[in-house]
Amino acid sequence: MGVDFLSNAVIKVNSNIVVKMKEFYSNSLTDKIPQGGLFVAKLPNCTITAYKSGKVLFQGSGASSESSRWGSNESSSNSKVKTKKTTIYSPPQNISTLSIIGSDEVGTGDYFGPMTVAAAYVSNKNFELLKELGVKDSKNLTDKQIAEIAKNLIKVIPYSLLILHNEKYNTLQESGMSQGKIKAYLHNQALNNVVEKLKPEKADGILIDQFAEPGVYFNYLVGQSVNKENVYFSTKAEGVHLAVAAASIIARYAFVKEFDKLSERAGFEIPKGAGAKVDLVAANLIQKHGMASLRSFTKLHFANTEKAKSLLTKKRS
Ligand code: MN
Repeated sequence: MGVDFLSNAVIKVNSNIVVKMKEFYSNSLTDKIPQGGLFVAKLPNCTITAYKSGKVLFQGSGASSESSRWGSNESSSNSKVKTKKTTIYSPPQNISTLSIIGSDEVGTGDYFGPMTVAAAYVSNKNFELLKELGVKDSKNLTDKQIAEIAKNLIKVIPYSLLILHNEKYNTLQESGMSQGKIKAYLHNQALNNVVEKLKPEKADGILIDQFAEPGVYFNYLVGQSVNKENVYFSTKAEGVHLAVAAASIIARYAFVKEFDKLSERAGFEIPKGAGAKVDLVAANLIQKHGMASLRSFTKLHFANTEKAKSLLTKKRS
């Protein structure tokens, strides 16, 4: 990977967020921390360095999408950092007036539970209805609100929901598919499903909540049937068009329901995320249901698997 300053991002966050970030990246922490640093996390496409000052530096091709989870790019002495690249994949200025199929996923960073991907079509004739149903950025909604909205939503808009259970996820992952590629396949499948459902009607475009650079996304899908016309990518796309907000709500609703099922199966509550609590619960799960149960409950390749095993070893010795 070459040095490309467009691939850097700096944000400033408060101490609560820094703690959350460290927890979120707990699987990827390294022990080489620069002076004044709090933690360094290395992801496949991004290195994240958090400083005591509250500044967090993101470097690598995933910098902009990764940093956008936490905040917006800070104005910096390096003005190039602020430059937002406009490409043929950037949503057009009038996107919020168009009829769009949006897609989003949930569960990629969670050790337990499936990956859920939804695509949803929102025609501009339905904007008012959806607002009335309470559709907005799901990050600002509680699980209970999401359930209520989703139940109404799925009755009124065309959508496709895909749930990738961990049994299958693990098989794909072990066969050499990266998580990014798995995501791309699911988004593409869900989008194709909605395109089919709409026929003969046609959406004005497709908006994908960006998890990879567009070029990388299409590369993952070589050999697949892919829509390439009027396909747009944006990070935080839930705020760009109601179609992505709707897809996000449907995906999250399914995700939460799956956690209820998993908790019931386990006999205790299964937590979200990938932090220390998750390690403990995974250790309990192994104790109660055996090592083999991890395969259907968890994303085995996460570092939590080894952490849970070592917790058990400590317990037993
Ligand atoms: Mn997303």
